[in-house]
This record gives sequence, structure tokens and C-alpha cells, in this order.
Amino acid sequence: MIGLYIHIPFCEKKCGYCDFVSYPNRQERMGDYIDAVIREAENYAGETADSVFIGGGTPSFLPEGEMRRLVEGVARSIGIAPGAEFTIEANPNSLTPQKAREYAALGANRLSLGLQAVQPELLERIGRIHTYADFLRALEAAQAAGFSNISADIMYALPGQTLAQAEETARTVAALPLSHISAYALKLEKGTPMYGMKQPDEELDRAMFHGIRAILERAGFARYEISNFAKPGRECAHNIKYWTLKDYVGLGAAAHSCYQGARFSNEDRLDSYIEGMTKRGTGRITYVKRSEYDRIFEKIMLETRLTRGMELAGLPQGRKFMDCVSRLELGGLLTRQEGRIVLTNRGLDLQDGVVLDLVGSI
Ligand code: SF4
Repeated sequence: MIGLYIHIPFCEKKCGYCDFVSYPNRQERMGDYIDAVIREAENYAGETADSVFIGGGTPSFLPEGEMRRLVEGVARSIGIAPGAEFTIEANPNSLTPQKAREYAALGANRLSLGLQAVQPELLERIGRIHTYADFLRALEAAQAAGFSNISADIMYALPGQTLAQAEETARTVAALPLSHISAYALKLEKGTPMYGMKQPDEELDRAMFHGIRAILERAGFARYEISNFAKPGRECAHNIKYWTLKDYVGLGAAAHSCYQGARFSNEDRLDSYIEGMTKRGTGRITYVKRSEYDRIFEKIMLETRLTRGMELAGLPQGRKFMDCVSRLELGGLLTRQEGRIVLTNRGLDLQDGVVLDLVGSI
């Protein structure tokens, strides 16, 4: 069984902070793109996915009927296991009741809606094209179509955002009929229009996250990963596969795969991906066979993000490594629990440093 990710690199307008591979004003290539992804799926004929995630970009920006063509086309090569978690990402302004019904009829059972903040001035500052009212309309459409597993993304550390605003957003979403909330710190990357804008300092950033965490936990959303919170049993199975290094295949421009002992990624330029796939049947640009060191590094970097911790089995447990674990335990950054190491809340705040220490002691 594999996880299946499909990237939809189209957006109506580019948000001010966005460095994802997404193209505004390229709707004329949507049809060719879907043909190319269906062609790419043929490379994995015979595989079965027990989790599917269609992300972007903005999958809900595809016109009505195109999601059906995509999913049915891909499923001719890659089977979808009964009961598989099947997520589609949607933008509040493009998820219509018709599209929500189309997704449910295709077998999707989870929706992920990008909200980011409830304050209109913050949504405008970061270049989002929807309002909080649009989000509520999309949520209603999703529920009416039968979705009960719905996630929302919120962001903190936005330029000009106050602690009270970050907490107001968390309180508002915590009271909605959602099963999962992702709370990400905004990171402004070079080359994006917002790069260089002043963001909350480290102290305020942490205060925002701690405030959000407390509000979500009080409302019954348990933190299961650095930035992710879920009601019981609603953790994202697809992303857990990613954090625990299970095989997944990514289809589409810029999609990454971790498959049969190798990591590879696709061409991120839209036209090149389509031409490559159409003419040569492949859009791959990098192919790296993972070494044992890569596997250990990835395991430490990804599994320590989970609040259930990282299994020690499969790691070389030499003296230097175990001394490092003891030192971090004494420092209050992790605990040891039945063959696992589990980062404390403080350890999760400082996860980058903990990973460097652990990897350096291998
Ligand atoms: S909707 Fe998402 S992918 Fe599209 S521009 Fe905004 S942040 Fe980027």
C-alpha cells in the first residue's frame, strides 16, 4: 500500500507569502495538465493507495467535472483501497456546493480548507482572496455534501498580527464543527512579495503558538504533531505516513515521492512537466537512492515531530547517541517511553536543535 499525493499547481491569484509551486492565470493548461497526471499514474499501474491527498495550489479551483476526470483517470492505474483516507484541499472562495458534492461522490471523505485568519485586515495584508464569511459558506457546503472530517489551516506570526488576533482566530475555529486544525507559523521566503516585512519577534511568536495550543487543547483538539491538532481518531493518516517514512508517490508538477528506497521529485515548471510527461512519460528531475545515513537523518528529523515520539528501534544506539539522549532528557527536552523518545513541549519548540544534536551523535 502506498500514500498517493496529487499536486494541482493552479491558483486564482498568488498570495503575498506563497512560495509553493502554483501558477495564477494558467487555466488554459488545466486540461493538458490533468492528461499528464493521468499519464504519470500509469507508471505506477498495479499499486494501491490507502491514503490519497489532492493538494496544491488550489484543487478546488479546477472547474466542475475536472476533478472527476482526474480521479477516475488516475484510479485506472492506481487503486484506492476501501476505507482509504481521501483528502482534497479547498479554498473557501472556490468550494461551491456542487464541487463539494462532486468530491464526496468521488469517494473523498476529508476536506482541508485554508482559512489562515478571521480578521479581514489580516487576510487582505497577506493577499488572501476570501473572507471569513466565504469560509463559513464553504464549511456549510462541505457539511451539506456529507463531509464530517474537515480540517482548517490557520497561521500566526503574520506581519502586524497581535497576540489577541492570533488567539481570536484559534478560539473562533475551535468552536466550529471541525475535526482537525493545522496552525503554521508564517515563514517569509526570499522572492515572495511579502519577503522582508516585519514579523512578530521570537517571544511574541512563541506566545502566539502557546496561546493557540492552549485554546485548541481546551476545545478537545489534541496536538499530535508540531503544527497539527485533531479530535480523537481524526489525525491525518496521509501526513503521518510522510512523517514515518512510509512509501508515498507524488504525481504532478513539483511533486515528491518516497518510493521503493528512493526519493525523487518532478519538474516544477508547468509547461515542462506537461511536455515531459506527454512526450517521454516522465517528469522526474531528481532521483536519489537513499543511503543508510539519509534514512536515519530523515527518521530523526520527521518522527520527532510527532507527539507520540520516535521509535528507537532502527537507530544505531551507540554510547554517544544514548549519552546525547540522556543529556536532552536532563535538559527537559525529551522523555523516554517504552522504546521511544518523545519530545516535550519545550523540545518541540526547539526541535531543529534537538534534531541536530541527535544526528550529530550518530
Ligand atoms: S492559495 Fe495556497 S498555493 Fe495558492 S497562492 Fe495562496 S498560499 Fe499559494
